[in-house]
Amino acid sequence: YFVSPEQFKENTVDISGEDARHISKVMRGKAGDQFIVSDGVSREALVEITAIEQGAVTAEVVRRLEMTHEPAVKVTVAQSLPKGDKMETVIQKCTEIGAVSFVPFISERTIVQYDAKKESKRLERWNKIAKEAAEQSHRNTVPEVAQPLAWKQLLPAFRNYDAVYFCYEKEEGLQLRDALRPFMQALPADRPPRVLLLVGPEGGFSEEECRQAEEAGAASVGLGKRILRCETAGMVALACILYESGEMG
Ligand code: SAM
Repeated sequence: YFVSPEQFKENTVDISGEDARHISKVMRGKAGDQFIVSDGVSREALVEITAIEQGAVTAEVVRRLEMTHEPAVKVTVAQSLPKGDKMETVIQKCTEIGAVSFVPFISERTIVQYDAKKESKRLERWNKIAKEAAEQSHRNTVPEVAQPLAWKQLLPAFRNYDAVYFCYEKEEGLQLRDALRPFMQALPADRPPRVLLLVGPEGGFSEEECRQAEEAGAASVGLGKRILRCETAGMVALACILYESGEMG
């Protein structure tokens, strides 16, 4: 049952109207019964009925509950830096969908230049966009946008992930969906699984980069029959991963 955020702060909640009727008549609630209330934003609490009088239910908070809007599968989106403000779009949309972090990188065909010394403002802006998107999506954590890496620096980081998917439009064999099915059935039991998603720039990845990625442990995967824009591919792949893990829709 939803209560207002103001009510939610109190130790006693009063429920009236349709919800109170539902508790007393449909659920046959009585003093001592417990149920969960939500502030409709991000918090829940377990409450216990203390009185039902004249169509109104009064309940005491027993315990505040942890309610998470975070996905169980932790996906990092590594995006080869696109032109213009497309990186901002990637960060904003993928934060809404559920990415946990971002690693911009420079690959062979990256068109834009990135000078870390001169462009700290840009990194700051990306992190601000992640924060605002996280707030609007009621995320519990703000994804971090890392300092852009060179392709060669990114390769050794593959070992920190349970799966690395190299999105490659020229891939004729494995599709992301086929790669995800066995992965989802063998998730680590003791910690959240970590996935790294690699998306190329406007001109795509080179064959050599594909070879190097596979050698470093990535699976080259297709995302279907159509070629997606570089800023679209990450969103689509991320949504597919979270869908397969039962987190979307
Ligand atoms: N020329 C367009 C642009 O300027 O955005 C499309 C670029 S596409 C080559 C950019 C990246 O998106 C690729 O390197 C790949 O990572 C990903 N991508 C796009 N479509 C894909 C597909 N059907 N399967 C796998 N990856 C794809």
